[in-house]
Amino acid sequence: MEKLLLHLCCAPCAPYPLRELKKEFNLTLYFYNPNIHPKKEYLFRLTEVKKLAKIENLPLIEGEYEPEKWLEMTKGLENEPEKGKRCELCVSERMESTAKKAAELKIYRFGAVLSVSPHKDAVMINSAGKKAADGQSAEITFYEANFKKKEGFKISSQISGELGFKRQNYCGCTHSLASRKTAG
Ligand code: SF4
Repeated sequence: MEKLLLHLCCAPCAPYPLRELKKEFNLTLYFYNPNIHPKKEYLFRLTEVKKLAKIENLPLIEGEYEPEKWLEMTKGLENEPEKGKRCELCVSERMESTAKKAAELKIYRFGAVLSVSPHKDAVMINSAGKKAADGQSAEITFYEANFKKKEGFKISSQISGELGFKRQNYCGCTHSLASRKTAG
C-alpha cells in the first residue's frame, strides 16, 4: 500500500477521514498545530490524538509546538473573520510543515483531515496543500479532499462520541477563543 502522511488538528475531527484513507493508504499521523492556545488545550488535544492513534494502531509524529512563531506570523490579522486571511496563513503554514515532514520521511503523499469541519473551506485547504507540495520535490503530492461530503462530519462526531472524545467549541487559536467568549 502507498504511504500517506496525514495531518490532524484534533481527535474529534479525525475518525471519518482517517478510516476512509486507511482503506487506500498506509497512514502515518502528524500533529503539528502551533495555532492552538493555551498550552493546556494543546496538550489536551495532543493526548486525545495519541489515544486515537493507539486505538487505530497507527504511528503518530508530534511536530514542534511553536506558539510564538505563530503569533508573530499572524500579527495584524487578529480581527480577521474565520475562513479569512489569518486562517489561510494558519492552514498554509501547517500544510508546509506537513509537506516538509513528508519529504524528510520519504512519504510521497500527504493530506489533512481539516476539510471535514463545516467551518473550514475545502477549496482553500486543497489550494494550500497543493502549494505546499509544490514547494517540495516533484515526487511529493497532496491528497485533495472534502471530507465533510457524504456526512463526514456527522460520522466523525458519532465515532468520536463512542470513543469518548470531547469536541472543543473553538477552532484553536487565541482569536477564535476570544470570539467564542464575546459571542457568549
Ligand atoms: S480560527 Fe482556526 S484556522 Fe483560523 S487562524 Fe484560528 S486556529 Fe487557525
